[in-house]
Amino acid sequence: MNLEFKITEHLEKLAKKSKAIRKQFYPSKKELKNQGKTLDPLKEEKYSPVKGLIQRYSNRVLILLTLNCAAYCRFCFRRRIVSDIQKGFLTETDLNQIINYIKKHPQVNEIIISGGDPLTQPKLLELLLKKIVKLKQIKIIRIGTRLMVSDPQQINSNILRILKLVKKQPLYLLLHFEHPDELTKETIKAIKKLRSTGAILLSQSVFLKGINDNVVTLEKLFTELLSLGIKPYYILHNDEPLGTKHFTVDFKKERKIMTALRKRISGLAYPAYVYDQPEGPCKVPLPLDFDYSFMKK
Ligand code: SF4
Repeated sequence: MNLEFKITEHLEKLAKKSKAIRKQFYPSKKELKNQGKTLDPLKEEKYSPVKGLIQRYSNRVLILLTLNCAAYCRFCFRRRIVSDIQKGFLTETDLNQIINYIKKHPQVNEIIISGGDPLTQPKLLELLLKKIVKLKQIKIIRIGTRLMVSDPQQINSNILRILKLVKKQPLYLLLHFEHPDELTKETIKAIKKLRSTGAILLSQSVFLKGINDNVVTLEKLFTELLSLGIKPYYILHNDEPLGTKHFTVDFKKERKIMTALRKRISGLAYPAYVYDQPEGPCKVPLPLDFDYSFMKK
């Protein structure tokens, strides 16, 4: 299974004036060389006890609600399955099995809804949220999305109504951004709508060669996100699924950029710089180029 090509009208227009958008969404011949580590760099398949559910940590589970997105990012770390819509949709029976699994594991208190892009499937998302909010053991709900970048018009009153179904638990929206060119007036409008739901907004990014691997671009991205009410949360080193090696920035360069950024932007605008190791204990925070000799005293 290879990642399909799919783009929205919004991104198509933007790609005409932004190289950063073109590189993210239009396939390159380099993908065909199949360079990278493995199809499933995080070994997610190994941690999936029930269809659509992944559990790598004891207190939280990931639900892959759909494998559909409004547009497909060429560097997607789940490109082995994302865009495979045949397999991609969960049925109500699948959702019930997931809920039963969670009930049988009372240590699970946090749910992350991801995919694909869960906001592209409002009916299924509504069905799932209605089931989850009733579970007393669940204290935190997170939803990951890129819809405000790829198709901001789809952040409509129906989506906002569905997000507002989460009342008792805090709702965290993990918004995926890579470059300041993504912050168009339409996207900013969609972000404001998401803020109006009362959800806590965080951003996630991946270092991408030739797209955001410089201090000026990331400074602009993180400070603008913060001014829109989004806390930059993570920037990750590319996990390098097959076909994405051409996006990988080397650790040394990333480190230099993150060190320079730390001196230029506030702690609030600065995300954690991490690497999600396959079968590692957690997302590992990566070191910066500071003088740490004071720790030896
Ligand atoms: S929006 Fe997320 S899941 Fe979809 S293609 Fe992009 S990175 Fe992958």
